[in-house]
Amino acid sequence: MGPEYLDAHLHIADGAALKLNSAVKYIFLNSTSKNDLDTVAGCVSEHLTPFFGLHPWYTAKESVGSLNLKAMLDSYQTAGVGECGLDHSGKNRLTGSIQLQAFETQVKTAFEYGRPLSIHCVRAWGQVISVLKKYSPLPAPFILHSFYGSAETAEILINLGGYISLSGMSLRNPVKSSPIIAGLPLNRVLIESDLLAGEPGFTAEMHFDILRENYRLTAEILGISEKDFISGVVENGKIFTN
Ligand SMILES: [Zn+2]
Repeated sequence: MGPEYLDAHLHIADGAALKLNSAVKYIFLNSTSKNDLDTVAGCVSEHLTPFFGLHPWYTAKESVGSLNLKAMLDSYQTAGVGECGLDHSGKNRLTGSIQLQAFETQVKTAFEYGRPLSIHCVRAWGQVISVLKKYSPLPAPFILHSFYGSAETAEILINLGGYISLSGMSLRNPVKSSPIIAGLPLNRVLIESDLLAGEPGFTAEMHFDILRENYRLTAEILGISEKDFISGVVENGKIFTN
């Protein structure tokens, strides 16, 4: 039997069925809005951890209140909060203050319920870190998904209880990212596909290939065997599934 993989950040299209390669055993499945909330909830299983939340891209049209987040957390004891966060890229900047309010509401809820967070951050490190510091020490760890920041930022996040999750985006510019990734503590690294399951063109094989490539590239940068790295990431992920 081959190794078992963890995907630390996956989405699912509204109403789609989740069909994955059997080698992908552990999944953190993230909602983005009210639309996909029930689909994510419907996928929950022993090895699939749901995250319920409002993605920063949807904060202008929806409120955190419309998700009934607390009821979802009451119903699903393994659930975390997310995908939430801040995105100041391009025109997303314009909704910065609404995003900030929605993010803080979700961090506060995660804090109250003692649940982990799955966080999206693009060009808003200062604000994300200051919200996390405000609720520190957090009662549960958090995932900084698709990380593409500096070594200093990674260190601050790790000290606040963060796990650094790497996607294809994180690995897209090896000249910049390799030295940063090489300096990460092995026990705080996760790997993700960041794909949308169930969308046209998505297949179990394509998902597995992309995920496996992210493992392979990261193991190479870290200078450890792929096999050890895969089992190490699965081990790291366990803190989010208890
Ligand atoms: Zn996402």
